[in-house]
Amino acid sequence: MDSCLFCSIAKKEIPAEVIYENTGALAFLDIYPMAPGHTLVIPKRHVDTILDLPEDDFVSVFKAVREVEKMVIKSLKPDGFTLGINQGKVSGQEVDHLHIHIAPRFFGDGGKSFQTIVSNIPKESIKEIAKKLKI
Ligand code: AMP
Ligand code: ZN
Repeated sequence: MDSCLFCSIAKKEIPAEVIYENTGALAFLDIYPMAPGHTLVIPKRHVDTILDLPEDDFVSVFKAVREVEKMVIKSLKPDGFTLGINQGKVSGQEVDHLHIHIAPRFFGDGGKSFQTIVSNIPKESIKEIAKKLKI
């Protein structure tokens, strides 16, 4: 693997506003926040996507997500959250080290829901798609 920005942050070679850490995961503030408290949670071990994430890192990463939410709720008092993973260039993944965006949401923040990201309505019925997926 070539040099990876988030591996460097995980190894503390590059500074970041780290707010939480456990054995397998690290949480730090996004350098270009889309909302107050916009945080990235990463596995410390490099994987490109969730497809390659080992079982034990799953636990570490999702524990970190939960802890960060608790921290944000306590301090910033958001009305909710939007969580997201950009997976692959097509979705906007710029850093090829798995990361979960945690965006605190506030009534009146002008943001929308996950379902507004794309509007590529399938021509087939969901029954037909489910059949394909289960082959
Ligand atoms: P993505 O488009 O999902 O790959 O998002 C990558 C995110 O990493 C963007 O929201 C960037 O603002 C953020 N980012 C890039 N460099 C840094 C950095 N050095 N520290 C913190 N966040 C960063
Ligand atoms: Zn990495």
